[in-house]
Amino acid sequence: MILLEQNKTEYNNDLRAMIMAFFPGIKIVEKLEGEDMPKFIFVARYEENETSLAILDDYSDTETIEGNYLDKASFRNILKSASYKLLCRYSGRELPWGDLTGVRPTKIAMAELEAGKSFDKAVANYIDTYHVSERKAKLATKVADYERGVIASIDKENDYCLYVGIPFCPSRCLYCSFTSYPIGVYKDKAATYIDKLCEELEYIARVYKDKNLVSIYIGGGTPTSIDHILLDKLLTKIDTAFKRDKLREYTVEAGRPDSITKEKLQVMKAHNVSRISINPQTMNDETLKVIGRAHTVAQTKEAFLLARECGFDNINMDLIAGLPGENIDSMKHTLSEVRELAPESITVHSLAIKRAANLKQQLGEYGDSINQDMNEMLDMVSELADELGMEPYYLYRQKNIGGNLENVGYAKKGLECLYNILIMEEITDIIAAGAGASTKLTYHKENRVERVENCKSVDDYINRFDEMIERKRRNII
Ligand code: SF4
Repeated sequence: MILLEQNKTEYNNDLRAMIMAFFPGIKIVEKLEGEDMPKFIFVARYEENETSLAILDDYSDTETIEGNYLDKASFRNILKSASYKLLCRYSGRELPWGDLTGVRPTKIAMAELEAGKSFDKAVANYIDTYHVSERKAKLATKVADYERGVIASIDKENDYCLYVGIPFCPSRCLYCSFTSYPIGVYKDKAATYIDKLCEELEYIARVYKDKNLVSIYIGGGTPTSIDHILLDKLLTKIDTAFKRDKLREYTVEAGRPDSITKEKLQVMKAHNVSRISINPQTMNDETLKVIGRAHTVAQTKEAFLLARECGFDNINMDLIAGLPGENIDSMKHTLSEVRELAPESITVHSLAIKRAANLKQQLGEYGDSINQDMNEMLDMVSELADELGMEPYYLYRQKNIGGNLENVGYAKKGLECLYNILIMEEITDIIAAGAGASTKLTYHKENRVERVENCKSVDDYINRFDEMIERKRRNII
């Protein structure tokens, strides 16, 4: 536990985020109860023209900031920088992303490049202003540069993406925080669910008939959890309901290798799905057991080769750095297996410990073995991506992400996932159908994004279907 003592609360979230970046998972309190003994006390005293920060432990250390704390636009960055320096000295560590705690660090480079600054200037800005390591600064700038190229080809007002959610999975992964129901238990409801989903898709196609559908992304859950007949029904509905003359990509996140069959791959191919994901997460059988994936490495390889046989020439593989019990050697092994398969894109996630995930509840059991080598693992993935001719094309961070690190998508040029970029940069409308799906409507002139959420549970989605349509109707029309 850390005690945060402040005489004002304007920058409460910023200081908490900074402390959490150094001490993930630790409780931060503003008042001590009973016999509580904090690890240290972080003090912030805001006065009109001077703010002092201090860490009190066996020793004390301070930083003084000149300037008016009420001038939020400029003061926030100075405060974050000073608190970062203080925490670096206390912990004896620097963080790869320096004092950046936000979800989209690439937007800083994006703004610099848009303003006509050079690549090198954008990199230097990260290092000098935000204490970001050179490696991460270059990574973020490369991603921003790549995204700019893709975004330039988008008609912001008229293009849109369609997201279709299938919230079923073969089993629940230990770290999962998505909407996901075991298909074994929900088998009987799957058909009703797909019927309702088709109805929602028809509605969307009607409302968006004059816009350009540029990307379809079927995610979940695991879309291939449903059988090939239901999958065919869903993809046929998409074929018949939507105009596809402007479609640039069609992704199905098949995801779990244990859900992929030849029939389902053939169905997807017949409906012109252009990109699929087959996600190993790790190529170590022991870890797969620990994280509840209920499939083997051999199944991952079989599914991948089967997809190649069926003609899929754009396959993504998701990996996770920092899984319980894994170390540098485990990642080395995973990457050597992935190298053999040679996918067109790789997405690497840093293990995120979210509130909803079983992992958090089970940290007592596995927490000690969640290793600290994640940054090195991410660098190893980056090296393999480079070797396979891929470039980083999207990047984001999450709250509670391991090691305060990042998730990165790498792809061969032209085979990146457009949807991933557009959802991250909030460039076009993303119209989402299905349980737990979240629609994002962009209002560029007003510089705002509106979300329209569907019910999370399958039962609510089926039983309260009219309400979902009404929510969309109120916001979209
Ligand atoms: S495959 Fe994905 S959505 Fe399904 S349980 Fe695992 S993490 Fe959750």
